[in-house]
Amino acid sequence: MRKDEQSTDETRRKLVKAAAGTAIVLPLSGLVACGGGDDTSDTESAAASAADSVSDVANDVADTVADAADDAADAVGDMADDAADAVSDMADDAAGAIDDAADTASDMVDDAKDKAAGMVDDAKDAVGDVIGGLPKLEESDPVAQALGYVHDASKVDQAKYSGRGAEANEACKNCALYVAREGGWGACSIFAGKAVNENGWCASYNRAG
Ligand code: SF4
Repeated sequence: MRKDEQSTDETRRKLVKAAAGTAIVLPLSGLVACGGGDDTSDTESAAASAADSVSDVANDVADTVADAADDAADAVGDMADDAADAVSDMADDAAGAIDDAADTASDMVDDAKDKAAGMVDDAKDAVGDVIGGLPKLEESDPVAQALGYVHDASKVDQAKYSGRGAEANEACKNCALYVAREGGWGACSIFAGKAVNENGWCASYNRAG
């Protein structure tokens, strides 16, 4: 029990006792006042004894009432504590739910950003594969493979084309069929609609000039 609660309890006990004592002593005082002659001493003694007994009972009642008040105060305090705990738990749960929702929203935003970035990268790659409006010729293209096309003339298959390509200073950039576009890539009538590398080579090479 806190110090202020102990003080309140003491005050309550004193008030109850004072009220009980007053209620008992006043009538007894009147009884004593009415006595007279030789019987006065006996009457006073009896009245005092009765007053003591009644005072003891009053004290017991006051203690009982104070104990009941204490129990009630404790019960109310416990209920208040329980309610405070419940509210605190609810607040914690709500805060946790808000955090979870914020995390979920943040994850969704991050996912959306990643997807958007991926789409932008894909778009850049698609643009990068197009030179001057022409998609780059792939070495895996069937026609390219049939003519031994490579992006790097130094990698010409010498088993098939001995002494050709870089070995003979042959490359698209000095081929009569090459029309430069941009970034080292250009058009070639052999591979219409595709861009070949200026350092590339194929078996249809025809030296310019
Ligand atoms: Fe290059 Fe000439 Fe062959 Fe075309 S024909 S791919 S420009 S070497």
